Amino acid sequence: MSRVYNFSAGPAVLPEEVLREAADEMLDYKGCGMSVMEMSHRSSDFESILHEAEADLRDLMNIPDNYKVLFIQGGGHVQFAMVPMNLMKNKKADYIITGNWAKKAAQEAKLYGEVNIIASSEDKNYTYIPDCSDLPVDEDADYVYICMNNTIYGTEFNELPNTKGKILVADVSSDFLSRPIDVSKFGIIWGGVQKNVGPAGMAIAIVREDLITEDYLPFTPTMLRYKTYADKDSLYNTPPCYNIYMCGKVFKWIKKIGGLEAMHKRNAEKAKILYDFLDSSKLFKGTVEKKDRSLMNVPFVTGDKDMDAKFVAEAKAAGFVNLKGHRTVGGMRASIYNAMPKEGVEKLVAFMKEFEEKNA
Ligand SMILES: *Cc1c(COP(=O)(O)O)cnc(C)c1O
Repeated sequence: MSRVYNFSAGPAVLPEEVLREAADEMLDYKGCGMSVMEMSHRSSDFESILHEAEADLRDLMNIPDNYKVLFIQGGGHVQFAMVPMNLMKNKKADYIITGNWAKKAAQEAKLYGEVNIIASSEDKNYTYIPDCSDLPVDEDADYVYICMNNTIYGTEFNELPNTKGKILVADVSSDFLSRPIDVSKFGIIWGGVQKNVGPAGMAIAIVREDLITEDYLPFTPTMLRYKTYADKDSLYNTPPCYNIYMCGKVFKWIKKIGGLEAMHKRNAEKAKILYDFLDSSKLFKGTVEKKDRSLMNVPFVTGDKDMDAKFVAEAKAAGFVNLKGHRTVGGMRASIYNAMPKEGVEKLVAFMKEFEEKNA
């Protein structure tokens, strides 16, 4: 068996240790004679998987007691709808547009109310995070929305916007558990898990309790109300059991490494190796403003489409896969999530150096 270095933006690399453990337990989970996939979600075995996963996540992120942790089917796009459906009491919300995912979230919110774009970096193809220290926040806005890490463009908020007292909602799909975060600064933190935590198809929403009400928009389907999940500990209906089990394993893996401080240190080291090379390279260059660089997604270009394509093809043949950039940026993108080992980044940089010597 040979595993590649997978730089996919998502679904993405998972820790090998976690995959091996899941493989070992595939046919017989802890002596119960069946796979977690075959298990009733009402069984005590599954209930402990769910409760342990939640407890480990609370521990890792230091989640205050007045926040609920909800495991919700449907991934990111369902949260684009759930946020406005559950929070838009005044039918007004302020969005900060730093990329495609924030833009799509805003478009979805427009189905339910008035959306004001209070900051945007669209003028420079989202290559920076706008100054958010003094925004024209609407007095009646129900919340201010950001996408914390912009998966496609490779920028990340390093400072939270000044929301002037309004509820802050953040999509953390692509930097979930990559660094410490002060949960108390947010009304809702949600992330699709397939970038940094687990298999595709689920989001985890961390929601402040006072925002979980029956005051959602009329016609909000039962399964799109945060309250439905909160009241039943994410067991109102059959949850994505196997997904929750895999996320739980990843939480334990991060705890073993030393938690989010340790994870952040590793991620900063990994990203530095790649960015330092890009800054010194004669062939490759990064595409975003240095101060806003993401630790997770690193886009880069040669400036020549054919050269980019040649690099992607040769890298693939050498075992570095999914490096092709998103069509809106072009070039390459290396997603170096939590589970990408440092060695993977070091080897990629060595390969890039070699390619540069041959082609510059
Ligand atoms: C991938 C991604 C999404 C979309 O997630 P889906 O589960 O495909 O709906 C949303 N936000 C961010 C930041 C992402 O990276």
